[in-house]
Amino acid sequence: MPGKRVKIINRLFNRPERLFHFSGIKRCPTTKRAVYTYRVAQEIFTMSVPGKSSYSNENGSNDASPKTHPCLLCGGLKSYAKYDFGPHKIFRCENCNFMWLNPLPSREELKEVYNSDYFRNKGFYQEEDEHIYGYYDYISERMTKQARYYTLMEEVVSFLGNFEPEVSRFLDIGCGLGYLLDVASDKGFQVAGTEFNPDAVEKIRKKYVFPIFCGDLLDYKDKDFNVISMMDVIEHLTDPLAAVKKASSLLRPGGIFLITTMDSDSLVSRLLGKRLEDFRRVREHLFFFNRKTIGYLLEKEGFEVLKIRSYGHTFRMDFLGDRLKLISPVAGKIFCWIIKFLHLSTFQFYINPGTKMIVFSRKIR
Ligand SMILES: [Zn+2]
Repeated sequence: MPGKRVKIINRLFNRPERLFHFSGIKRCPTTKRAVYTYRVAQEIFTMSVPGKSSYSNENGSNDASPKTHPCLLCGGLKSYAKYDFGPHKIFRCENCNFMWLNPLPSREELKEVYNSDYFRNKGFYQEEDEHIYGYYDYISERMTKQARYYTLMEEVVSFLGNFEPEVSRFLDIGCGLGYLLDVASDKGFQVAGTEFNPDAVEKIRKKYVFPIFCGDLLDYKDKDFNVISMMDVIEHLTDPLAAVKKASSLLRPGGIFLITTMDSDSLVSRLLGKRLEDFRRVREHLFFFNRKTIGYLLEKEGFEVLKIRSYGHTFRMDFLGDRLKLISPVAGKIFCWIIKFLHLSTFQFYINPGTKMIVFSRKIR
């Protein structure tokens, strides 16, 4: 690689404030060498990857991944393949511990995931990573989710301070089937949503009159919201940095930004590692934050972090058994047999393994 280009690239990488994008891997048609494509602002340039690395990942297997892989968050050059899912790997930055899927899916591949089956994916429990995306039955989770959202709205309003019913505006980014919008509307907010999945948007529009934008968040035009939420969304986005910047531009000063996402460094996340369902969603989970990296990103984009805590789930016992099978098939089968024997299959209870976090922040600049 020409020395001049290396100097330019390194200068860019070492400046975390520059928005840096990894665009994908291509193979040079003449030399057959892997070429990594990067995008910085509007510029497109490429960097050849010299030879194959003898780098060894967590499982002890050698792979052809480069020893260094630039971090989207801090620009650090040193990273390693923390979890290996065959064609997919999850890399971890040695500097800030931010993690990302490599390679990232194309827009066409993402469209295949966010389809009409996303909220009722009958292949979810087939135990193969390619099938683990979306929800086995999101419709049946509506009541449990919304019950928790009512409590959550109380917390949001307490942070908001100057809540004015019928005037305060609420935007849910990646609003799914509109469960949170329904609750926020009940609470007195004027609500709006954005959603990438056209099938979901069609369903919401049949049920509610809320304005829903179908498409990429970055193309959304409305603004002046008092509250913006991203519930289990940021890990799905191909450019989470740009999404947070966009959310900031849509919020009024002093507005509240609410994020839920997995905590990649919680005790249970680290103990279960690649057996954890959140890591195994290799077709849709692209970026993995911990409490420090999400805080760093928010503060960088002008937010003050108000509170970060773990966020649990309410499960039906039979659903929990099926999910347990994904981690340990034997333990899952025994659990399912016991709850069936005790007639507890439809019993619901709250569980908080600490693998997910909720972050409340306020726009301060
Ligand atoms: Zn980093």
